[in-house]
Amino acid sequence: MKAINQKQEHTRSYYAATANEVSDYPVLEGRQSADICIVGAGFTGVATALTLVERGFSVALIEANRVGWGASGRNGGQLINGISGLEKIRKKHGDGIADMLWDIRWRGNDIVYERVEKYAIQCDLKSGFVQTALKSRHLADLEELAAQRQRHNFPYKYEIWDKEKTQAMLGSSAYIGGFACYRDGHLHPLNLCNGEAKAAHALGVQIYEQSPVTAIEHGNRPKVKTATGVVEADAVVLAGNAYSTLESKHLSNLVFPAGSYIIATEPLSEKVVNEINPRDLAVCDLNEVVDYFRLSADKRLLYGGACNYSGREPKSIKSYIRPRMLKIYPQLEDVRIEYEWGGLIGIVLNRTPAVGRINKNVYYCQGYSGHGLNATHIMGEIVADAIAGTMEKFDLFADMKHFRMPGSQWMGNQIIALGMLYYRLKDML
Ligand SMILES: Cc1cc2nc3c(=O)[nH]c(=O)nc-3n(C[C@H](O)[C@H](O)[C@H](O)COP(=O)(O)OP(=O)(O)OC[C@H]3O[C@@H](n4cnc5c(N)ncnc54)[C@H](O)[C@@H]3O)c2cc1C
Repeated sequence: MKAINQKQEHTRSYYAATANEVSDYPVLEGRQSADICIVGAGFTGVATALTLVERGFSVALIEANRVGWGASGRNGGQLINGISGLEKIRKKHGDGIADMLWDIRWRGNDIVYERVEKYAIQCDLKSGFVQTALKSRHLADLEELAAQRQRHNFPYKYEIWDKEKTQAMLGSSAYIGGFACYRDGHLHPLNLCNGEAKAAHALGVQIYEQSPVTAIEHGNRPKVKTATGVVEADAVVLAGNAYSTLESKHLSNLVFPAGSYIIATEPLSEKVVNEINPRDLAVCDLNEVVDYFRLSADKRLLYGGACNYSGREPKSIKSYIRPRMLKIYPQLEDVRIEYEWGGLIGIVLNRTPAVGRINKNVYYCQGYSGHGLNATHIMGEIVADAIAGTMEKFDLFADMKHFRMPGSQWMGNQIIALGMLYYRLKDML
């Protein structure tokens, strides 16, 4: 991975190559002022900015590179309900908040569906997501996914698939069952992020790109500084996730960057598409270290899997991921891989997003442990609520205890890599 927080253009992903447009907001110059200043224009920053401006706040959003440059513009595009850590929160507070947590887990999906419609964002949003069973112990998970929805009178369509149906729907003999939910789905994440930023900008959010924030000066009105400018605001939101190095005194060794990688094939023939995914669903297996894939709008297979926790980059992303794809789809042996790219996800040791405040008015919200498209939108709303004075949901997350790994970040990454090795071995059993 290249050095972080330096001005860079988008990575050479399928998404950057097919973006509706490339954003071109100005560099921050001179002294500016806003009610709220947000650092980082991925989904966390953009979703928070849009929620705040919709509620009447003046907002400045500062991005080191381009809108959606980080994980938000590079991910698998799988819109999956939930946010990691909810079960830990339920255990801490009891079943009395179970319904509230159930609503929280779907809120990100609701926000994305609402915004795509309200702002007419072209991001190829499709409904439908299947979780696949590879081993007999996964079959109980399928039953539990259905039971959860039954308990909550879930109003959207879902279904359990047996082995025959799963193999017929996904054209792979690897699977022995599936659970399909049609409130989850998939989309072109860079186009969603850019579309939300455009909507926020149209409502008055000042967006600055190619403007790495170098420091925060704390106070009643904190100052957010770059090499060429400063924004003074009543409150600041740090949304740099795995790419951020700001506020190391409070935040270092809390979120560990891990590399995650995707390949995109050439467009597939209609025959192959009909064989492997005729309903155009997002797919993810139930392993601890997951493989996930979906079709793009132009019918490429976008296949992601594995994660690099040690900080060492694979020499070739294609050689790393393609064998995983061929294990599921040997029939794609002769299909060309036309794109390969990676990005950083933020891993938190207790798997609950690291959310909190420094000096009352500098909020941070990061570490979705690889599952963030939906979670960032949930947290954007929860942080906006907190800024407006409603702390209830924010405090549920902020009160969770986090362990800051002693020693260097490199050391922390090696320990996490060892831990993940355990899960990889478990997946092999
Ligand atoms: C390959 C890959 C596949 C994934 N697949 C999925 C998936 O299918 N579904 C899912 O739900 N999640 C997925 N994720 C996770 C998801 O993408 C992330 O959880 C989510 O995008 C995090 O959003 P974010 O805004 O918090 O961080 P990011 O999108 O990483 O954005 C952070 C931004 O902050 C900026 N920044 C950092 N420091 C500074 C600074 N000092 N000054 C100014 N700007 C700064 C960065 O340049 C960056 O643009 C995937 C992630 C990866 C990498």
